[in-house]
Amino acid sequence: MTSDLQTGDTREEADFEGVGEEQLKMRTEEFQALLFEERAKIFQNAQRTLTEEMTIDSDELADDIDRASVDQSQNLTFRLRRRERMLLDKIEQSLQRLQMGDYWWCDECDAWIGFRRLRARPVTTLCIICKEKRERKERSQVR
Ligand SMILES: [Zn+2]
Repeated sequence: MTSDLQTGDTREEADFEGVGEEQLKMRTEEFQALLFEERAKIFQNAQRTLTEEMTIDSDELADDIDRASVDQSQNLTFRLRRRERMLLDKIEQSLQRLQMGDYWWCDECDAWIGFRRLRARPVTTLCIICKEKRERKERSQVR
């Protein structure tokens, strides 16, 4: 058995063979904790954004000169919230996938996603290859 790590392939474990049921169970708990942590971070962040927004309201809204910059930052806040909501949805989805045992496999091609990639992006549902494919497609579809 050779341990030839193919360069360019970022999957930590190329296939599922080396991962036992027991280990997968442990990983499920690990990743569940990771996702809970991500979720807590988003709530903390949202709380902070809200506080900052209220500060802007009281201090600067009266000043017409600064009106444009306030609008801009409120716009940013809104976008941030949208992003947070989307991320929260993804986290819920990932937690469900964990429960179902689907979490470890690519949604598109059923390939083993790999712990390393999942650790870096716990809400991903795609293997790196499908992700890159999709990003290329999305990029070419933008306008
Ligand atoms: Zn895939």
